Amino acid sequence: MIDTSQFNGKKVAFQTLGCKLNFAETSAIGRSLLEAGFQRAKMGENADICIINTCSVTDTADKKCRQAINKLIHRHPNALIVVTGCYAQLKPDEITQMPGVDLVLGTNEKSALPDFITQLEKKQKGESHTVKTADIRQFTPICSADDRTRHFLKVQDGCDYYCTYCTIPFARGRSRNASVAETVAVAQRAIDEGAKEIVLTGVNIGEFGHNTSETFFDLLKALDLLEGVRYRISSIEPNLLTDEIIDYVSTSKHIMPHFHIPLQSGSNEVLKLMKRRYTRELFADKIHKIKSLMPHAFIGVDVMVGVRGETPEYFEETRSFLAGLPVSQLHVFTYSERAGTKALDIDYNVPHAERKKRNDVLHQLSERKTQAFYDSQKGRTAWVLWESTKAGDTMHGFTENYVRVEAPYQKELINTIQEIVI
Ligand code: SF4
Repeated sequence: MIDTSQFNGKKVAFQTLGCKLNFAETSAIGRSLLEAGFQRAKMGENADICIINTCSVTDTADKKCRQAINKLIHRHPNALIVVTGCYAQLKPDEITQMPGVDLVLGTNEKSALPDFITQLEKKQKGESHTVKTADIRQFTPICSADDRTRHFLKVQDGCDYYCTYCTIPFARGRSRNASVAETVAVAQRAIDEGAKEIVLTGVNIGEFGHNTSETFFDLLKALDLLEGVRYRISSIEPNLLTDEIIDYVSTSKHIMPHFHIPLQSGSNEVLKLMKRRYTRELFADKIHKIKSLMPHAFIGVDVMVGVRGETPEYFEETRSFLAGLPVSQLHVFTYSERAGTKALDIDYNVPHAERKKRNDVLHQLSERKTQAFYDSQKGRTAWVLWESTKAGDTMHGFTENYVRVEAPYQKELINTIQEIVI
């Protein structure tokens, strides 16, 4: 048993890189450290311990993590430096060898981080604790808001899909989740503590229940019974966004008409090379079904350009496919080679300058689509959850269908849902 009295009043600083899931997890780690007696280091204050929750989605992400770690070491020379997250799981040795790093914790160890901090003295040499990816089992549903009004409920972790360009399954392990009842209980606690909007997050949330006897649809129906909250579904694979889910969302009072669906490519040939589990025809069916039932739904789409095997003709197929679909925004990612992935076996390689050009083309398409979507919303009545971390001239919020709006700051309206005309 560790003597936590040594932590009373000690200062902790956090830095998170990457996805919403990482932010939710950092917030949960923060909560447990504050319960152990730590205080959050204020801006400019020296910390006794720094926690860095890393991402490894691309090579650039790895580089950004190393820069962030070095910056924190420089900024807090006497602090215990703890690195966790996807980069820590994938490359623990690389990080342990960085001078100044004390502790490296993998994905399985992340949520038990406070147990690894037995004392705050800097170590002679960095040490790491990670288990093999196949042995990652740990899962706890968590709901966190950090400084934001919106809450993020982690309902699932890991992925069993192994798309050929992706390292996430190596960093986060197999798909896993808690039961519907346990997940709903965590959501209820967050609502009791004041949550007005909850975003359901995970790595591949449609896989919820994949290894148990429940489904993501079961979870949605159970969450929908809770009062005083509204939900957004974060990214869901098109093949797992079933027609029954779309039908259900279209009549639900609590689940917002806001979808985020990864397409990655609009060419069936490229989808095959990526080992995605749908065709462009299935994707188009889902979009048209959503729009026929919820004409004002916001639909964000992930797309990856410059992936191995994407010839100019295949890219053009993607561009024209997206141009013809009633979607609201594109999240465009540029492919980067990742060690250990199957995509490296594909011979056709897109030059870096061409990858950038394709990214620009889709960015411009996205801007036009978002503007057209916003224009179609002018004059509509909507319900906005006002959010703002600090007092200022304006506050902002999102409508049910994810239109970002602004209004003059009014303290009493923060974290309330109000009717407006856009
Ligand atoms: S579905 Fe594919 S892209 Fe998404 S996390 Fe799983 S392997 Fe990666």
